[in-house]
Formats: sequence, C-alpha cells, structure tokens
Amino acid sequence: PYKGKSYDESMKIRKENLTPALLTYYKKPVMIHQGYMQWLFDTDGKRYLDMFGGIVTVSVGHCHLKVTESARDQLGKLWHTTNIYLHPTIHEYAEKLAATLPGNLKVVYFTNSGSEANDLAVLMARMYTGVFDIVSLRNAYHGASPYLMGLTAMSSWRFNVPTGFGIHQSMNADPYRGPWGGENCRDSPSQVVGRPCDCGNGECKAGINYAEQLEDVLRFSMPKEKIGALFVESIQGVGGAVQFPKNFVKRAFDAVRARGGICIADEVQTGFGRTGDHFWGFQNHGVIPDIVSMAKGIGNGFPLAAVVTTPEIAQSMGNALHFNTYGGNPLACAVGSSVLDVIEEEKIQAHCAELGPYFILELRKLMDEFDIVGDVRGKGLMIGVELVKNRETKEALQADKVNAIWEEIKDSGILVGKGGFYGSVLRIKPPMCITKEDADFTVAVMRQAFKNHS
Ligand code: PMP
Repeated sequence: PYKGKSYDESMKIRKENLTPALLTYYKKPVMIHQGYMQWLFDTDGKRYLDMFGGIVTVSVGHCHLKVTESARDQLGKLWHTTNIYLHPTIHEYAEKLAATLPGNLKVVYFTNSGSEANDLAVLMARMYTGVFDIVSLRNAYHGASPYLMGLTAMSSWRFNVPTGFGIHQSMNADPYRGPWGGENCRDSPSQVVGRPCDCGNGECKAGINYAEQLEDVLRFSMPKEKIGALFVESIQGVGGAVQFPKNFVKRAFDAVRARGGICIADEVQTGFGRTGDHFWGFQNHGVIPDIVSMAKGIGNGFPLAAVVTTPEIAQSMGNALHFNTYGGNPLACAVGSSVLDVIEEEKIQAHCAELGPYFILELRKLMDEFDIVGDVRGKGLMIGVELVKNRETKEALQADKVNAIWEEIKDSGILVGKGGFYGSVLRIKPPMCITKEDADFTVAVMRQAFKNHS
C-alpha cells in the first residue's frame, strides 16, 4: 500500500513548487504511483487500464520485467561516462537500432527527448542542405523547445515570443477537416478501405490537392534555387491521430526532393511497430526519409531519443562539435536495447497489426450508434475518435461535453488521451501489450459514456 504524501499535500506542493505550465489531466487529477504492463494504480489502489501510455510512450508495458531487469543490471555496472569514452552498450544498441531502418539510414545520434532529437534534425538539415528554410504541416507537433515551437503548428503550444525563423507551414492534409476530403483514401483496416474510395479506382485526388498546396509553399515561400527540408509525422499524434490520404506523403517527398530538399520523418509516436504493418510509420507511405527522429516508445518511458540519418548527412555535422552529456548513456542504451528485444520476442508489431484493425472496426460501430462520433481513424494501436456536435458541419463537440465523456471514461477505470486542434479527439495509444479483452472493455466503456452524454 501507498505510504507517501497525501493527495491534498501533493496538490498543495504542486500549486506552490511546480510551474503552472505543467499540464494535468482531469478535474481531479489522478495520482498514480505504480504501473505494470497496461495497468496503472493510483495511491488508493484503484486500477486503471492505461490506453494512453503516458502519451504513446510506454511501448511494451509499464515496468516490463525484461526491460526493468536490463536497467537494473546496467545500474549495477555503469550509469554514465558521456561519449568521450567508448562503452560497449552504445555500440551494440546503435547497431541494433540502425538495423531496424531501411535504406542508408545507418548513423545514430542519441538524445534524451523528442524535442532534442528534432532540434538536432533541424540543425542537421540546415547544415546539409545549406538552406535555412524548413516546412512543416499545420496541426503538427514536433516539440516544445524555442527552436521547435515554430515547427509545431498549433497555437495552444505557442508562447508569445518570436519562433520559427525560416519555418513555413503548409496546409494540413487532413481528410476529415480539410476542403478536399479523402477520408476513404486513408490507410484503414481492409473492411473500411473496402468502401468505395472518394476517387474511384484512381489515385486519391485529395492527396494530390494537398500535395499541390505544399508545392505552392515550396515555390512561393522557399529560396528559389534550392529548398531546405520537410518535417512530417507519419500520423499526427498530438494533432489528433490525423491520417493523411495514402498518396500524400509520397507526393510531398517527391516534390521536396525535386527541388533539392530533404525529408524528415518524425516517428516519435508512430515508430517501433505501433502501426502494425510496418516497424516504422513512414513505411506505410512507401517512402524512405533522409532523417528519422524517434523518442517515446524507444525507451518504453525511459528518457531516450534518437536521430538516425545517412552517412552523407551525418558528415555535414563534422565541422564543429555537438555535445549531449546524457545522450547515449549506458543505462538508456541498455533499456533501449531490451525494448527492441521485447518487441521482437513478443511479436509486438504483429500483435498491433492484428489487434489494431479489430479495435478500430469495433470503435467504428460507435459511429453507427451515436451522432456525436464524427470519425474513427488510425492504424494499428494509434487510434483517434473525433467527437462532433454536428456530423454534417463537423463542428467539434462542446468542450464541457467532451470533458464529461472523458471524465466518465476515467471514472470507469480507463485512461485515454485527448487532443486535436479543438480538443475533441479521444486518443487511444496504449502500451502495445493490451489484449482483445482490453479493447472490448474500452469500447464498452466508451459506448456507455457516449450513451450518457449524447
Ligand atoms: N514529436 C512528436 C510527434 C511528439 O508527439 C512529441 C511529444 N509529444 C515530440 C516530438 C516531442 O517529444 P518530447 O516531449 O520528448 O520532447
């Protein structure tokens, strides 16, 4: 049983000693003190099914025994040296991690967070292309550092300071909210794809139109002779599990490369088998990026992140020193390495490929039952349920109603995320060890919550 500070004492400390910029979920935030696999336990011993995994971070399960054991083992041997010396763990792990990536993506640089990884990716892109300009999509989330606040194109994550010099934004390729649709051209379980596509059997027109918007940004806003880089999430995470039309990313990459630019995939949420069919989210789009940034699931919640790129691009960073005290420390590398082992041994990717479509199709049934369910989308165990006031206009469901539903789901013992520009998307991105029973339970709890608040 929990014997630490009381809830009220902790809330008092939170008010006095922690910054108000820290986000807490729920009217009465839950106080979690233990976790095991897909389960979290609050200080009163109440058990929650964790369908959000600390924002898509817990990949193979809270305190997974093998991962915990590898951390414990490394703790007793060596925690830290910095990279000024060699230590075997970083080498073994870098080789193993690079082997999961296609093409010439071979060179790894370890950092401690997704923001650090993307900061470095920005720097690398600028060094390599010699162009300062970078483009991202509206509604993207790429991190919170002052450097990245400009790439992250959501007003709620921006402070009133100058951000994003040299950064341009293109129209989001959002089939649900964008002007050209393309909902049926998203990568979905086959039963959903089986419905007639908006474009007949041809290539998705919506994807072409969104890519043309990007081309316009490249043409009008970037330097004329050569452009810099494109940043893109394989599925937008914080933005509300927004999936692009299937052909968009490929077209976007082609347009950027045709003008001498490079392409960066932000796999912070979509990597490590979560989307099921592939280990990396970008593989679902049939592309190979020039730089890949990764975090969250890479360490199952341990602070670890990485940038992986080609030897040529890595070389462009060789002209000065770039240092990160904790990046690639032995403890983080031991954890990261065991996470890769678990993903392989427990066939986690195949599990996502099997359970994801089932889960999505069960959630889609809620669209037939409740008008407030405007859209159910996602791939593997990266799922969004968008709530609306009006199916036709797609006006977002009022915040108080979304919150009431979300609170009820929590009170019923399930933690899901919330996101999207209007805060109206319930985000389901659990530790990838969840079972079919957990998926069924989640659908049942959501059904009841929708019934009570429709
Ligand atoms: N990229 C994406 C896609 C993310 O979702 C996040 C975090 N939500 C980041 C980058 C930044 O990662 P971190 O919070 O570890 O800095």
